[in-house]
Amino acid sequence: MAGLNLKGINKIYPNGFHAVKSIDLEIKDKEFLVFVGPSGCGKTTTLRMIAGLEEISDGELLIGEQVVNNILPKDRNIAMVFQNYALYPHMTVFENMAFGLKLRKVKKTDIEAKVNKAAGILGIENLLKRRPKQLSGGQRQRVALGRAIVREPEVFLMDEPLSNLDAKLRVQMRAELIKLHHELDTTFIYVTHDQTEAMTMGTRICVMNNGSIQQVDTPREIYNHPANMFVASFIGAPQMNFMDGKLIEENGQLLVDYNGFKLPLPEDKVKVAKEKGYINKELIIGCRPEDIMIDGDTGFDAEIEVIELLGSETYIYYSAFGKTFIAKEGKHFTKVRGDKMKIAFKNNVHAFDKETEEAIF
Ligand code: ATP
Repeated sequence: MAGLNLKGINKIYPNGFHAVKSIDLEIKDKEFLVFVGPSGCGKTTTLRMIAGLEEISDGELLIGEQVVNNILPKDRNIAMVFQNYALYPHMTVFENMAFGLKLRKVKKTDIEAKVNKAAGILGIENLLKRRPKQLSGGQRQRVALGRAIVREPEVFLMDEPLSNLDAKLRVQMRAELIKLHHELDTTFIYVTHDQTEAMTMGTRICVMNNGSIQQVDTPREIYNHPANMFVASFIGAPQMNFMDGKLIEENGQLLVDYNGFKLPLPEDKVKVAKEKGYINKELIIGCRPEDIMIDGDTGFDAEIEVIELLGSETYIYYSAFGKTFIAKEGKHFTKVRGDKMKIAFKNNVHAFDKETEEAIF
């Protein structure tokens, strides 16, 4: 079993592109850490450096206590599962899973035992004689996982392993991977651009943008306390609503003034805003879609532009003073496009600095 430590890791590709910028990150033993961020942010490059498939330009990578910068991939005791599965088409499922062990000259009886055990964990015992082309996408994905499991690695690395599956299977495999992590009780490092996968699977999430880490924390903390506007907009679907606002003091009470509508702040936020010196300052207010109230007596005038019915919930797009606001309601939402009403933010709003985009509260 092993944790990992990334100390000041950089990747500069031969063409001069700085893809990963001074990453410091401790990944604990047995944790399920998810790297998430938009396309091109450096997730795969980071994972490949951990795997040893990509040279580290600068910094130190430790697996357990050992610096592994110059250790070959095969000697790092990690297994990687790729997006395209990378199965050998001419081999059966059994042979695909056994291949790495054979190369390592593991005894035949041991290979059989390990493959059968992994097949049992993944529920693919009845597929061992088939070739990859006789399998569905989900079954192929299980075989690719099986091939990693038989190696009994200290660390599993997974690069978008579910992205080739259809939506329903992806949800099912997501739950299976969470179960697998519990069963194997070892370190998982997972790369995805899908914030739902990150939120549902990670014990911790590392949000990346432009080669840098934006925030590392539990899914709950990242959702409730995003470190900056990038994280706030990337995590959560539909995304957070933003608008300009100002903190003002009236009759001793601290209020957020957004477009003339005044919202009293709760104690804890008043304290933070005062400590950080944001009274009478322009800032950006953020409100999650589930924190928009409709049809009250106060708020600003809005009109429904679009309604998306998802089954258990409804997304409503309101237009107000030339902007669109997205709200989330339950399945019993009965209003229709064109309806007019007042909408307002609940007082658990977020606030961000206008220049740095860092979170204030
Ligand atoms: P995706 O989700 O699209 O795979 P990613 O976050 O995994 O994105 P990386 O594949 O790590 O991103 O790439 C990070 C950046 O490095 C991208 O801008 C990419 O174009 C660039 N890059 C990747 N490989 C090379 C290379 N061999 N030479 C130069 N630049 C590269």
